[in-house]
Amino acid sequence: MKGDEIEMDCNKCNELISDYIDELISQEDKVELEKHIKFCRQCASNYQLTKQVVNTLNKVEEVEPPHDLSANITTQIKQGKARKRNFIKKFLTRKGD
Ligand SMILES: [Zn+2]
Repeated sequence: MKGDEIEMDCNKCNELISDYIDELISQEDKVELEKHIKFCRQCASNYQLTKQVVNTLNKVEEVEPPHDLSANITTQIKQGKARKRNFIKKFLTRKGD
């Protein structure tokens, strides 16, 4: 038994990085992740890199859709965000091997 010292591994860390940047993870995960990137160089640089990618993509999407926009276009914007997430996941997965 390792007791309550649950250390996050790199895979889990990579999975959570994009959610962490978007502030979508639980406080517990956040603490674990921050702990992990403090001592894991690889994940720390992964985090920095991902943050840059996310920031760049967020800038591209900064334009708010006007509310008289058709539902169709709003859906497309939402799908674009989903694609962004997939892109980040793939990006991180590829870096992992
Ligand atoms: Zn790591």
